[in-house]
Amino acid sequence: MAFDFNSLDHVFFMREAIKQAELAMQAGERPIGAVIVHNGKIVGCGKAEHLKNHSRLAHAELNALLATASSLYDFPHDNGVIYTTLEPCEMCLGAIVMSDVINHVVFSLADNWINPKPMFEIPHVRRHIYNYIGGILEEESAALWKKCRPDELLLIREGRE
Ligand SMILES: [Zn+2]
Repeated sequence: MAFDFNSLDHVFFMREAIKQAELAMQAGERPIGAVIVHNGKIVGCGKAEHLKNHSRLAHAELNALLATASSLYDFPHDNGVIYTTLEPCEMCLGAIVMSDVINHVVFSLADNWINPKPMFEIPHVRRHIYNYIGGILEEESAALWKKCRPDELLLIREGRE
């Protein structure tokens, strides 16, 4: 069957990403979670694990990509979708592009602080990402930040220090 991005249940998959974000929050991490969907199924997930991994690179999306990289290796450009509760940073968007399997990005909260959108001026990024949409279950994701890191939510929303 041909892939149809618009037939995916974005709310269902984002809820799964939010579950990951809740787990992160319960562990004292930033409330960010991600799931990767391939052929209509969740094939991997990740959450922010800075404290656990003692690494500032342990972002939810990168963790999800690393968890699925070998199982998806044989499916280049195969319409993988990543659902993430916060718009990806430049590192994660770069990793999504380089994964070669993820062609669609769905996020919940836009990140006006990091704002990776200018990366779409790079032809290589444009060629790999066919859909890039935000705002799915935005209030649910924001509610987690309000609970544990309200100051950072302001930064994310307003994009300034
Ligand atoms: Zn990131």
